[in-house]
Amino acid sequence: MNIAIYPGTFDPVTNGHLHIAERACKLFDQVIIAVANDNYKDNFFSLEERMTMLGESTKHLPNAVVESFSGLLADFAREKQARAIIRGLRAISDFEYEMQMAAMNKHLNQELETIFLMAEGDYAFLSSSMIKQVALIGGCVSDMVPAVVDRFLKEKYQASHQNS
Ligand code: ADP
Repeated sequence: MNIAIYPGTFDPVTNGHLHIAERACKLFDQVIIAVANDNYKDNFFSLEERMTMLGESTKHLPNAVVESFSGLLADFAREKQARAIIRGLRAISDFEYEMQMAAMNKHLNQELETIFLMAEGDYAFLSSSMIKQVALIGGCVSDMVPAVVDRFLKEKYQASHQNS
């Protein structure tokens, strides 16, 4: 079985992430969407919230599973017997960091290939951080994120306004 891992922070998952996951599911028998459980990044949503949103928005993909991982991605890939890491590339600005990470993962696990899928159309301009910035000052992002994410963002927005 050809297994790929699509790792990320997914804070929160956007339609751009989903498009990459859908395309990866056509190329591999199984795609493990791996949510990073790292503490060095100051995430807005908890691991549990990020996994719930991903689980609900990938229900239509029978060969996708959502899991969390901590520690080295190269080790997680080995444990899962994955042959590839999927990453999405939006702009040239993604490129340098992604190249360094691909080289490091290759160094740590020689069996592992990183495969880049280019973001298509407007997805190239979509990022989780932009979504959070806009949603948390009350902007509408419902056509850029899955319905469940829109719901979670609206709840956070309402909660922050009740407290202020
Ligand atoms: P990380 O912190 O690992 O970069 P992200 O959740 O930001 O985690 O992104 C996970 C992957 O999805 C990365 O490869 C990123 O480039 C890609 N990605 C993020 N947003 C988009 C998008 N709009 N279109 C295509 N790929 C995307």
